[in-house]
Amino acid sequence: MDDVVKSLLEQTNSSLTKPALARPTREEAEAAVRVLLRWTGDDPSREGLRDTPKRVVKAFEEFFSGYEADASDVLSRVFEEVHGYDNIVLVRDIPFSSHCEHHMVPFFGVAHIAYYPSEAGVIGLSKLARLVDIYAKRLQTQEALTAQIIGAIDEHLQPRGCAIMLEAEHMCMSMRGVQKHGTSTLTTQFTGVFRDDPAEQVRFFGMVRQGKV
Ligand SMILES: [Zn+2]
Repeated sequence: MDDVVKSLLEQTNSSLTKPALARPTREEAEAAVRVLLRWTGDDPSREGLRDTPKRVVKAFEEFFSGYEADASDVLSRVFEEVHGYDNIVLVRDIPFSSHCEHHMVPFFGVAHIAYYPSEAGVIGLSKLARLVDIYAKRLQTQEALTAQIIGAIDEHLQPRGCAIMLEAEHMCMSMRGVQKHGTSTLTTQFTGVFRDDPAEQVRFFGMVRQGKV
């Protein structure tokens, strides 16, 4: 595995395996939302906001459901029967939405993932989309999200090489700070043959862009 990917994964794993902080109760979480509502300058007791803390806490359960999920559950089922297919497999434009860990506001976009299968086989195509969600539905940076996805594929599928590109717009850039709308951030990472052979990277980018303007 790529050294950079490995060290990023180690950091992530160690931060995830730290002794878990006691999780607050639902009531405590709702109370915290009421405090933030007051912080905006609004009145949490007015009719339109009365059920908002409940809704926000429920939405958080969905936004951050990735903490409860494990990549190995998704990637453990491998199909070996591919009639000798050993060429590139690319799934592109996998939509995702995540939250930046610095501002807790959304960033969203698409992921493109390619790999060259090894003898171990291939995985169901929808599993790649599911894998993206497991890591996207946590507090993230785009860089760490990219490294975690490719690290999990490398670890579980042991492909001859893997390539990933994420394109995303960050609300913390478009709604606050510099307030630049429509800026996209691209991150890429390569392992195996993609890392070692620039021609493979060109092929990956070509296939990702094929048919697009
Ligand atoms: Zn941010």
